[in-house]
Amino acid sequence: MPKPFESTNPHTGEVVETLEPMSEAAVERALAAAAEQAPRWAEQGIEARCALLRAAAKLLRERKAALARIITLEMGKLIGEAEAEVEKCALVCDYYADNAGAQLADSPVASDASRSLVAYQPLGVLMAIMPWNFPFWQVLRCAAPALAAGNPLVLKHASNVPRCALAIEEVLRDAGAPPGVFQTLLIDAKTAEGVVADARIRGVSLTGSETAGRRVASIAGEHLKKTVLELGGSDAFVVLEDADLELAVSTAVKARFLNAGQSCIAAKRFVLVDAIAERFLEAFQAGIAALSPGDPLEDKTTLAPLARKDLRETLHEQVEASLGAGARLLHGGKSLDGPGWHYAATLLDQVTPGMPAYEDELFGPVAAVIRAHDEAAALRIANDSRFGLGGSVWTMDAARGERFARQMACGCAFVNGMVKSDPRLPFGGIKDSGYGRELGTPGIHEFVNAKTLWVG
Ligand code: NAP
Repeated sequence: MPKPFESTNPHTGEVVETLEPMSEAAVERALAAAAEQAPRWAEQGIEARCALLRAAAKLLRERKAALARIITLEMGKLIGEAEAEVEKCALVCDYYADNAGAQLADSPVASDASRSLVAYQPLGVLMAIMPWNFPFWQVLRCAAPALAAGNPLVLKHASNVPRCALAIEEVLRDAGAPPGVFQTLLIDAKTAEGVVADARIRGVSLTGSETAGRRVASIAGEHLKKTVLELGGSDAFVVLEDADLELAVSTAVKARFLNAGQSCIAAKRFVLVDAIAERFLEAFQAGIAALSPGDPLEDKTTLAPLARKDLRETLHEQVEASLGAGARLLHGGKSLDGPGWHYAATLLDQVTPGMPAYEDELFGPVAAVIRAHDEAAALRIANDSRFGLGGSVWTMDAARGERFARQMACGCAFVNGMVKSDPRLPFGGIKDSGYGRELGTPGIHEFVNAKTLWVG
């Protein structure tokens, strides 16, 4: 029998709410409703589907304060970051409401036919398997293009954010989604595997860990259905000797410690060329020391707790193992006293190959510094990772920065800017960070039948 879902406040460690998982019969009803709705939703036409997204954007903005509070109480991020997340969800709904018509319009192609074109048609019911770290954003960035393209969606959200999952469903329902178009399934991972295999599911979008990605993709592959995988990352933040150090340092603090470091595109490996390493480190350490942990509902708090106890334990083991292998602790390195899952902002220097801080993803407030002799060494180190999600390079010479960014082995490379997602630009990774793209035009084309139409 699957366990109930517990919504736990990461700041206090207290269970806020317990929710029962869906029964097998309820899951079956949901899948049947989605499958029944699929042809109708496809026939609705793009205008009606985009109207739903516009209404959802409006509701997200109206309910921002209440939704942000649900996010903060359930996964612990700073309340200001939670509000910004809800705003961004409204933005992605508006973006696809404004652009999906053009992105899905027939695309004529000259050939030997009297008329030939590509038509973009829905695939059918999709499944979204999502993580807790941006519990609204991850879902909406997948749902907005999927729904605009005419695909109903069922959501299996992370087990620690059931209230967020239900709140998203409520927003879409209140915005006018017909029954079956968007449904939250309160189910565990094992039950979700069965849904992935179900013949009514035509595609699966998963954002989460490598382990979950490998497992879900293998089940989907066995059943010949398309997947998009947005997995972990260990982004390099490369500082060259001609960087604007003040800007690089202030951005570094934000890029690593936003959401308590629990972001796939957080800067995780700080690759510093020798010429500026000491100067950068001194200012970076001061910025880290100034972070103020505490209640994420309070505006004065600038460092949030981790989302779960087990995540804090894993992170601490990675820090200890890196120190054991020779990394130097410049700041933090321990759990904070008191209730909840707080962890000190941590700075590790002299990180080298073989250490968890070099090889693996550290999903928390821990910055790893790797020294590089020069630009060529910095590029080698930046690319020396099995992950390939994002990366940034800092230099006053824009042309040099662009040259460097083009050589970075990742899906999103930024020059003099923090890696971030933007509804207008495609987002995704290479290597063990997954495959496929979300957002922008490539994002809406992932789950459509790009049908060739040939008329003689
Ligand atoms: P996770 O443990 O992999 O969980 C992600 C989702 O997958 C959850 O809903 C989880 O459900 C589900 N899941 C796990 N195993 C499954 C299985 N065998 N079958 C079906 N569903 C399964 O990851 P997380 O700890 O929530 O998130 C952190 C990871 O996500 C990090 O590695 C981070 O880098 C990555 N991430 C990537 C992106 C990106 O865009 N590339 C964005 C954000 C996060 P349960 O909770 O019930 O286990």
